[in-house]
Amino acid sequence: MPANNLTIRQYLSELTPYKATLIAVSKTKPDALIQAFYDQVGQRDFGENKVQELVGKYERLPKDIRWHMIGHLQTNKVKYLAPFVHLIHSVDSEKLLREINKEARKNNRTIKVLLQVHIAQETEKFGFSMEEAQRLLEGNTVQELVHVNVVGLMGMATNTTDEQQIHHEFAQLKAFQDTLGPRLKGPNIHLDALSIGMSGDYRIALQNGGTLIRIGTALFGSRD
Ligand SMILES: *Cc1c(COP(=O)(O)O)cnc(C)c1O
Repeated sequence: MPANNLTIRQYLSELTPYKATLIAVSKTKPDALIQAFYDQVGQRDFGENKVQELVGKYERLPKDIRWHMIGHLQTNKVKYLAPFVHLIHSVDSEKLLREINKEARKNNRTIKVLLQVHIAQETEKFGFSMEEAQRLLEGNTVQELVHVNVVGLMGMATNTTDEQQIHHEFAQLKAFQDTLGPRLKGPNIHLDALSIGMSGDYRIALQNGGTLIRIGTALFGSRD
């Protein structure tokens, strides 16, 4: 399936009343499809899950694209993204957060990040537990890392057809954000963003306060 402008327009208009941002997840997809969405509907937010692919696309495509790193990130690869990445959704350890801070400082910038919180039943997915995320956010560590800006949370629901379960998992993360967010101190911590929802569950994510919706397959077609 080629990039479908009708489709992306429909998603954009579905997100508008919720004031949510569409992250077009372009992993494995060619530059031409990204350029088509860029030219024809003004799409600027794109998501990738592999560092090398993200860097290549950054180098070849227009420089005003906002690149979102949504996949697991190894500390030794942070340096390749640090000069330009718009938002790292997948911070899943304090070690990674410290490395992002270090590389951001080298590049004379502040990098916006989300903490990935584990909400699914599957055990293989990355992320902090809510207790771990809370401990990190309430401690002094983040405030000392002045080159990172923690702007919210990210979660992935269980891969299931049980919509009640997905709803429950997203609602739990939203409740966590709402209770913890206002209590946090520090000029570089504001839990405003909630990155939840993919092609199969984006409507449930919108109903539960998702502000960054990461859609791949439904826009670009299946990945083989
Ligand atoms: C691939 C991916 C998506 C998009 O998934 P689709 O089902 O293709 O919409 C969203 N989030 C993350 C973290 C991904 O890796």
